[in-house]
Amino acid sequence: MDFNLLSSTLESLNQPKYRLKQITDAYYSGHFKDWLAVTSLSLDLRQYLQSQFPLYSLSVEKTLTSSGTQKILFKTADDQYFESVLMQYPEWNTVCLSTQIGCPLNCAFCATGKMGFKRNLTAEEIVEQVILWKNQFPVDRLVFMGMGEPFLNYSNLKLAIETINTVLKIGSRKISVSTAGIIPQIKQFALDFPQINLAISLHAINQSTRLKIMPITQQYPLNELLDQAKNYVSLTRRQLFFEYALFEDINDSPQDIASLAKFIKSNYLFYLNLIPVNQVPNGLKASTKLTQIVNYLTQNQVDFSVRQSFGQEINSACGQLAYTTGKI
Ligand code: SAH
Repeated sequence: MDFNLLSSTLESLNQPKYRLKQITDAYYSGHFKDWLAVTSLSLDLRQYLQSQFPLYSLSVEKTLTSSGTQKILFKTADDQYFESVLMQYPEWNTVCLSTQIGCPLNCAFCATGKMGFKRNLTAEEIVEQVILWKNQFPVDRLVFMGMGEPFLNYSNLKLAIETINTVLKIGSRKISVSTAGIIPQIKQFALDFPQINLAISLHAINQSTRLKIMPITQQYPLNELLDQAKNYVSLTRRQLFFEYALFEDINDSPQDIASLAKFIKSNYLFYLNLIPVNQVPNGLKASTKLTQIVNYLTQNQVDFSVRQSFGQEINSACGQLAYTTGKI
C-alpha cells in the first residue's frame, strides 16, 4: 500500500490522526482481503478508500495446493506475475519469497533464469507476499529462495527485512537468504544482518565446472567466493550453508565430492545442503549417485543434510518457479 497516498487521502477527508495507525495495523495484520473487509472503519470510509486505491499492491491470482505445499501466483499492479511458495512442516510453516520477477543470472539448471529478467520487486511487494500468505496460513519462517537473486536487489531486500523484523515480528534467526554468490553483498549482508542465516548456491567446486552451469562465476570467481565465505564466518561466527545440487556427470564425480568434502571440513562453521535436482524444461539431469555420495560424506564426517524436496507436482520446488502468463 502507498502510505503517502493513504496519509494525504485521510487528511483530505479530515480523518482523525489515529486513523493512519489503525489502518497501518490492519494492513500488516494480513487479516483483511480488501478495504471493505476492514469493518472497524465506517462503511463510507471503506467504500471511498476501495474506490481510490487497493489495500494491497499485489493481488492473489491463483493458489495451488499439493501435499505439504501451497503456491500463490501473485499479480503486480503493472500486470506482471510471480510466485511464492508455502511449505508446511509438522511444527511450523515456511514461506519461500521471491525478490525479482524472473532472474538475470541464467543458471543452466534453473527455470526462473530461462524466463529472463523482468524487474526487481519493491520492498513493499516483498513484504506483501508475507502479509498475503498470513491471510491464509500462520507464517513462522521465511526463506528468500524464490524467484530472483536477492543480492541483486539488495536495498529493497534490506528494507523488506527491516519491516519483516520490526513490524511483522519475524525474527532474524527464522529467516534465511540464499545467494548465487554476489560477493560484495555477502560482506554487506554480514554487517547488516549477522543474525540471518545465509546460504550460498555453490553447485560446483572448481571454476571451470561452475562457469559452465552458473555464468555469474565469470564476474565473481569461485576462489574469491570461497574466500568471502571464510570472511563471512569470521565476521559473524554463524554457520554458513552451501547448497549443492547433484547433476549427472557434471559435478558428481568422486574427485568433485572429495574436494567438496575437504572444503566443507575446512571450517567448522561450514554446512552442506545437498539438494535433490528438480526437473525443469531444458534443465540438467539429476545425478544417479546420491546414495554413494551420502555414504561417502557420512564416512568422512562432513556436516551435511539432504534437503527435503517439496511441491514438484505443482512446479513449486527449488528452481521450478517460472510462470509469467497467469497459467500455472
Ligand atoms: N538466486 C538465489 C536464490 C534462489 S534460491 C540463489 O541462487 O541462491 C533457489 C535454490 O534452488 C538455489 O540454491 C538454486 O541453486 C536451487 N535450484 C535452482 N534450480 C534447481 C533445480 N532444478 N533443482 C534443484 N535446485 C535448484
